[in-house]
Parts: sequence; C-alpha cells; structure tokens
Amino acid sequence: TSTVLSGTAAGTGGQPVPLSTVEVAVREQPLGPAQRTVVCTVGAAHPLRTALGELPGATWDGQGSWLLPLTRRTALALRRALTGHRVQLLGGAREALRAAADSPAPPDVTVVAVDPAPGGEGAVAEQVIAIRFEHTPALQADVKRLCAARWNSTEGCWVAGVDKVDDVVRFAARHELVLDPAVEALAAQRDAPLRYDGTVDGLRGVPVTELHTVRARKARGKTPSLADRLAEFGVESVYDLLMHVPLRYLDRSSVIPVRALREHVGETIGLLARIDSVGQYDRTKRLLRVQVNDGTAALTVTFFNSPWLVRRYRPGDEVSIYGKVEAYTPRSGRPVLQMTNPLMDPIGDNPAPIVPVYNQSAKSNVTTWDLHSAAMEAVRRLGELSDPLPGEVRERHELMDRAEAYRQVHHPDSLELAARARDRLAFDELLRMQIALGLRRHATAAETGVSHAPTGELTGAFLAALPFPLTGAQERALAEVRTDIERPHPMHRLLQGDVGSGKTVVAVMSLLMAVEGGYQGALMAPTEILATQLHTELVERLEGLARADGRPLVVEFLGSKTRVKDRRRIVAELAEGGIDVLVGTHALLVEDVEFARLGLVVVDEQHRFGVEQRAALRAKGAPLPGGGPEGAGRSVPDMLIMTATPIPRTAALTVFGDLAVTVLDELPPGRTPIATRWIPEEMSPADEHAEAWDLIHEQVAQGRQAYVVASLVEDNEKLAAQAATSLFEELGAGALADLRLGLVHGKQDRAEREATMAAFKRGEVDVLVATTVIEVGVNVPNATVMVVVDAARFGIAQLHQIRGRVGRGRWASHCLLTGRASSADSVARLQALQESTDGFHLSEVDLDLRGGGSLFGNRQSGQSDLRVADLKADLPMVQTARAETDLLLDGDPTLARRPGLRAEVHNALGEDAAERLARS
Ligand code: ADP
Ligand code: MG
Repeated sequence: TSTVLSGTAAGTGGQPVPLSTVEVAVREQPLGPAQRTVVCTVGAAHPLRTALGELPGATWDGQGSWLLPLTRRTALALRRALTGHRVQLLGGAREALRAAADSPAPPDVTVVAVDPAPGGEGAVAEQVIAIRFEHTPALQADVKRLCAARWNSTEGCWVAGVDKVDDVVRFAARHELVLDPAVEALAAQRDAPLRYDGTVDGLRGVPVTELHTVRARKARGKTPSLADRLAEFGVESVYDLLMHVPLRYLDRSSVIPVRALREHVGETIGLLARIDSVGQYDRTKRLLRVQVNDGTAALTVTFFNSPWLVRRYRPGDEVSIYGKVEAYTPRSGRPVLQMTNPLMDPIGDNPAPIVPVYNQSAKSNVTTWDLHSAAMEAVRRLGELSDPLPGEVRERHELMDRAEAYRQVHHPDSLELAARARDRLAFDELLRMQIALGLRRHATAAETGVSHAPTGELTGAFLAALPFPLTGAQERALAEVRTDIERPHPMHRLLQGDVGSGKTVVAVMSLLMAVEGGYQGALMAPTEILATQLHTELVERLEGLARADGRPLVVEFLGSKTRVKDRRRIVAELAEGGIDVLVGTHALLVEDVEFARLGLVVVDEQHRFGVEQRAALRAKGAPLPGGGPEGAGRSVPDMLIMTATPIPRTAALTVFGDLAVTVLDELPPGRTPIATRWIPEEMSPADEHAEAWDLIHEQVAQGRQAYVVASLVEDNEKLAAQAATSLFEELGAGALADLRLGLVHGKQDRAEREATMAAFKRGEVDVLVATTVIEVGVNVPNATVMVVVDAARFGIAQLHQIRGRVGRGRWASHCLLTGRASSADSVARLQALQESTDGFHLSEVDLDLRGGGSLFGNRQSGQSDLRVADLKADLPMVQTARAETDLLLDGDPTLARRPGLRAEVHNALGEDAAERLARS
C-alpha cells in the first residue's frame, strides 16, 4: 500500500490534470533500487509526455504517470528535464527531490540481486553487478565490450554477471567510478584458491560448480545451466575441465585479415572477427547467413541446416572462425568470398595475444568461451599444485612445471609455450600408463614360477618328423622361449606373427619343452572350432611320440560341449597327471579343472582373452613343494600368448607393455602373394557370370579349392549362421550349382562341422561357404580363392585374417572383396587391403583410421583414459615415458620411494584396475 505524502496525487485521486503542468509527487513505495517513488503526471499532449520515459528506470503506470525511483541520479536528471516547464510539486516532493539530489553520490558499482528478465519465462533473481554512470557513448561502448554488460531498464542501470567482476573492476578503475566495497570483496573472494589437497587427484573431486564462472550461468528458459551443459559434455570436475585442452590456438599477430582472404581461396584457415549481423534462418533454403567483419573487410559466413545457430551468435560477439575459404560467383556480378559451415566460436572478449579454441559441443550447447572462461578461473584459483614428477626427469626432457602447464595450455603467452604445456600434460598421462605397466612387469618378475628343464628328446623327434626346416624367425622365437622358461620366474611373452608365419609350430615346441621336464601344458583358443582344429593338428603331429618313461604322449580336448562322461574322465586324469597337453577353450578355466603339474600355458589369439582369464589360468599352476591350499602355494605357470593380429609399435609399448615381445618377422619360404581385388558391387548367387564365380570355376577346374565368406551379421552367431546357410543354398541352386559345396558355421554341432572341414581338407569339397568361423586357424594349402561377401562390414584386421586362409600353398592365390562401401573409412580400409598383404602395414593403417583409442579394445580399459596424449602421434613420448619408468622402478620396483607418483597411478587407473594390477 502506498501512502500519499503530497495532497491528492493526480491519476490516483480522479481530479483532471491541467494540460500545461507536470504534477510531481513522491510516495513511500519502493521502486527498483530506491525506497521511494517519484510520480510524474503529464497530460497526453504535454511535450514531456514521452521525454520523461527516457529517464533511467522510468516505468509507465498506465494511468497518465511516469514512475521513477527516487535516487540521486533521478533527482538530478528530473531537475534538468523539468527546467523551463511549469511544474507543480505536491506537498513534500520539493524537499524529497532536493535531499536526493544533494545526497552524497552512491557507489557507481554495486552488487545487487535483480530480476534479469522482467516478465521473462523462468526468470530467477540472481546476483549481478549494477553499474551506473552518466552516459557517454565511449563509456557505453566500453561497458558493453569490457564487461559484457547489458542495459536493464527496470533497474535503470547496466548489469554485468558476477563472473565479470574482474572486468568490472578494471572498467571502473579506467573511468574513475566508485566501487562499492562489496564488489571488491566479491573480486577477492573469487580469486580464493580452490579447496583441495593440492594434488591432481584432489582436483578430480572438485566439481565445476565451485567455479563462480560456472555457477553464475544458471538455467534460462529452455537453456540448462552451464553446469548441466558441461556435465552433458562430460566435464564434471575441475580436473575434467583442465584436461579438456584447446584443440588449437589462434595467434592474433598472425591471423589472416579478411581483406587478404582472396589469396587463400581453397585453403582452410583461421580468422578472428566480430559479428556484424545475424540473418534470419531461411527455412526454404535451410541456411543462415552471418556477416562478420574484422576491421579490414566483411565476410559472409553461411551455415546450412543449423537453425539453432540463430540463438548462438549475437551481433558484437567476437568469434574465431576456422574453415575453408570459398569463392562463389553469383549469376550476375563479380565473385564473392564466403565460408560455409566453418567452426565458428564466440571467444568472448579475450584480449590475450593467443586465443585458444576448444573442442566444443553444439549438442550440449557448450562454447569455446564457456570452456575458456571457466578454465581461466580454475587456473587462477589453482593455488599450490604439487608436482610429483622428479626434478631430474623434468630437466632431462625440458618439461614444464605442472601448474604452469595448466596455465599455459589454457592461457598461453606464446604458441611455443602452449605446445610445451600440452606436452607436459600428455607426458603425465603416458608416464602413469607406463608406470602401471612397469609395476605389473616387476610384480610378475617377482613371482615364483617353474624352472623348466627341457631335454630335447620330444622336440628333437618332433622336428625330425616335420616336413620342413624351421624358419630363422621360428628358431629365434624358440630360443627366447627356452631361456625364459628355464628361469625360476614366470614367462610372460607375446608371440606376434602375421597370418601364416608358423606360430603353431612354436606353440607345439614350447609345450613339448614343458612336457620334457615333467610338466603339463595347456593350449587355449578363443572358439570351440579353433580349439578343435588345434587339437586335431596336435594329435596328428605328436603321434608316435613318447615320454621319457615310455608312456605315449596324451593330448586331450576339453570344450563346453564335451560330454559329461568324457569330461569327468578327462578332469580326473588331468589331476593325476595322466594327460600331458590339454587343448580347449574357456572351459579350461572352470574351477574344477585341476592340473597335477601345470607348467606352461599357450594362448592363441590373445586379443580375445581378457586379463581375468589370464589370472584364472595362473591360479591353476603347479603346487609348490610343500605348498599350501589354493593359489597361495602354487607356482605361476609360464605363459606364451600368440597373436596373429599384428600389433603396431605403439600398442606393443602400451596395451601390451607388460609383456615381453617376440616377433615372427619371416614367412615360411615358397609362399605366393595373394592378389586382392575389391569389386564394389553385390555378387548375386544367381548371376552365373559374376567375376567371383568365374574365378572360382576356373581355379576348381585346375584342381584348387575356394572359400566364400558370408556377410557379417552384427556379432550374432545365429543370424550369421542363417546368412551363410542361405548363401550356401542360393549358390548351390545358382552360380555354383555344378560344384561340390560345403557349409560351416558356429551353430552346427561339432561332428557335422568337423566332417565338412575334413572333407574340404581331403579335397572332397570344392567350395566352403562359411561364416567368420574360418577367420583363424584353418589351414588348407590347396585353397586358392577367398571371396568375401559384403566385405565393407568387416574390419581391416579381420579381413586380413580371413584372407590369410589362402596363399598357404605353392599356387598363386586370389582374394575378392565384394560389395559397396558405405563410408569413406570403409573405402580406405578396402583399398588398403587391395594394396598390401603386410599385416604390420595394415595395422598401422587401421590405427590411422580408428585413432589411438581403438588400440585398447576391451583390454585394460582403465588405461584408455587418455585425454591429452595421443598414442599414435605421441609415440616418441611413449618411448621416453617407458625409459623413465624403467629408471624410476630400477631398485624401487613398487615405487615406494615416490608415494605421490604411486598414488597418482593408482587413482588414475581407478579402483578396479588398481586391484587387477595388484592381482595379475
Ligand atoms: P599361423 O602363424 O597363422 O598360425 P600356422 O602355424 O598355421 O601359421 O602355419 C601356416 C602354415 O605354414 C602351415 O601349413 C604350417 O604347416 C606351415 N609352416 C609352418 N612353419 C613352416 C616352415 N618353417 N616352413 C614351411 N612351412 C611352415
Ligand atoms: Mg594359428
């Protein structure tokens, strides 16, 4: 309720207002920042009727009066405005106005809470800084530019977000405005160091909402708060924020001016400019045009299919633009330069010489400026950040201090410092990874293993029966294995060799060495089919061999489908030592499978085996003399892990960095290269003259055999079996009706599948139609044609494996990859296979196409958490980190002397991985 101080105020009383007079009254009613309101009643035709509305904070009451807050500023402004007009000051108004005008000037800059969007939907009162000053165009421009302030008509002042407090303080100093002490306090409080324990791991526990910059940006209408948007983007802690490093930087001193763009048509370049205008989104043409200008010239930037960008860009915003310069000639007129769909980021008012540009997200509505302003605050409030990296390591590689690195990466003084800062952060990640691997290596080395004592009796007999001499690479690999297994500590070795390099022989020889010394061996494969094949091959090759005590060698198979009766017998014999080599799948890992004296485990195709399986195998080691129960009293068996998937150098140092590596870098002699061709069309089984079917006919006529691999269906064995079955039926009724066809897939029972495989091996089947079950291990040297249907669905490594089924004999072989490619990446994959049969080269191509992260697959996922480092690009740094790890762990194998570093490794890997690390 308002008390009228001054007689009858017109507009509330009902008396007619004289046309020629302005009536001024003051009433006790708060308005905006003022406690009292000035009511100015003006007739409809009065010259001041509209002019008074221009005064700061004026609102129209709808009944003939302007309402003004009674402040010093209004009083002064009103006095000026009313000069020369007839005014009737109603009781007390004169005194009240004079007192206000004569009052001491209040601070120009204050902290207030206001309603930011009068009447706006979801408007919430929030803290802002109010800035008041006598308007001049220069100040007005400055307050907008420096403080990103907006005019608030309710308040009659400029308002800036509290996150701009530093800018406001600077602006106030420049224009000699009076600061409210609350504003100074706010500035000081904003710079208070973040509360954490001074370690990077502590920063993982500090939510980004501790930052004023983030907190200040609350939800508005449909836009969620900055904290929510960042969370959606995956940035929740201050650590996340700091490790989200800029994608690139623009150096103000060397960016290309718009005027010079003509010389850069066709190039992808970076620009800095200010937005002049943002057009309307054109719904018909689905485009939005934005005019920018950098002071040298204007440029039109066009965005297609992105209506939301209308809200993102505002005239006056400074933006960084990154994209391709195009010249476009309209039907009439001269060519115009433009850019289409570039990366265009508001960079806020960042006066720094080097402007960082972050990987932002249109989906989460997080801009480079959001990230930069938050990171800047985080860096400013880092306080004391400890750096556990030993000084000598830092010096050796000229690494920056860690806190300095965070500062320079987000707010660099030069491009060179930005790059060094990034390197430091990447090094930290790589070192942590290497240390984790190193700790595991050292833990393995400290375990008690089996000292094997190979006599050469079995291996000698085996070699004598082998129809070929070993390759040099096989000899070298066996020498390494032998040295390893004779040691008292467990072997932990990776044997990598391209398809067909002869790993099986190495596996068999290793197993025989173990058996010679009186131990048992196990050979594991990832699938039932592979395990069966290996078992068959071993039984064949080892026939007639006997142990030192005269008993013939016993090789058994154990799979998930082994009959209960057989299984019971095998498990019993195994526990008594009656079986020398057990071949199987995961079924070997089941708890009740106990070995009497397990000494060596060979795992084929390691990439499908997890760390857990490895740990389970170790628990089956031979009991130590006088050993206790389960696990504790067991020696860890030696382990040889074979992989046909060539591992790029980076992966050998990282993902497999805890293993010793042997490479079979030589193929057995007499191999003929495989000619590979990609035919980008569907191969219809009904079309008898398709290239692939012609080739198969031609080769079969010469006595050779062929494989046809059916399209890959997700990872679903049942659907894959159906696809292969229908291809088999269609080919049998169509293009290959005159040939003998066989079918194998994972859903057949073992006997049926084995019968078909055996028939194919004996040459009684011409063409084997199959799913990827034949991907590895199958060995039929007479087969010379491989046709892969819908090849684009397979990955490089898989296709290389499948292709490796041919080219095993003395005849020239062919591989036809058919079907259209759906993406640029699949085109690149198929072309790579067409051009190379070198698995190592292909694995590098694969790494290029899929990025470093893909190396991990499901192995040790804790380590794939690299945010800054890139395993491929940073290979030299990976090597440095490896070398430093060796030095650090030398003489300190558990890193006991470096607790800070050790804690970081454990925290970075997470509880799970750390526990596994301790176990494996
Ligand atoms: P992978 O490394 O792909 O498992 P395999 O062990 O299946 O390779 O060997 C592929 C083929 O090469 C087999 O037919 C095998 O008998 C043959 N082979 C292995 N070693 C030699 C060798 N030293 N000389 C000739 N042929 C060999
Ligand atoms: Mg093999």
